[in-house]
Amino acid sequence: MDTLLQGYGRFRERADRDAYCALCSGQAPHSLVITCSDSRIVPEDIFDARPGELFVLRNVGNLARTDEPSVAAALDYALLHLGVKNVVVLAHTDCGAVKATRHPEHLDTEGLRLWLGEEHFDGADVEEAARAAGVRQLDRIRKYPLFRKLEGEGKTSASLCFFSIGTCSLEIYVNGQWVAPGTVSAICK
Ligand SMILES: [Zn+2]
Repeated sequence: MDTLLQGYGRFRERADRDAYCALCSGQAPHSLVITCSDSRIVPEDIFDARPGELFVLRNVGNLARTDEPSVAAALDYALLHLGVKNVVVLAHTDCGAVKATRHPEHLDTEGLRLWLGEEHFDGADVEEAARAAGVRQLDRIRKYPLFRKLEGEGKTSASLCFFSIGTCSLEIYVNGQWVAPGTVSAICK
């Protein structure tokens, strides 16, 4: 706990209190980010976002299991009440959840089995499987009725990003291909 409280002390010294004050009566984030609980994945860092910009759902393996209440609640709230323009699944290299699906014996508690037991390892290695798992999460979001309705009205969209920890680089899944962010607008035209 000491480490956390020392960090809080540093935060209090540098925090932009005016910015927090401006946010104290409400939030209007532009994006819902669904990412992994992995401590190396920090969406606010990766997207250089300030408090109030990202509504974040973190869970083990960045799963968008819309049959689960916490996932459905985050989607419903972000889409309906916050009106987010983007729903982004942020997957990553070296994902422990993906590794666990390759070795089901690692799912050694009821919680892990319930959460990851239905996921599968699909690929030649962990990175390929993590990318494939990300695509499945994107599909789940795109099939979610509320998302489909709002997407049809042009109010929101869904994307999949993949973060490589070792190189600090991001790729975006567009039309079945992984591309660098700078090329997305060219492909989408
Ligand atoms: Zn992970």
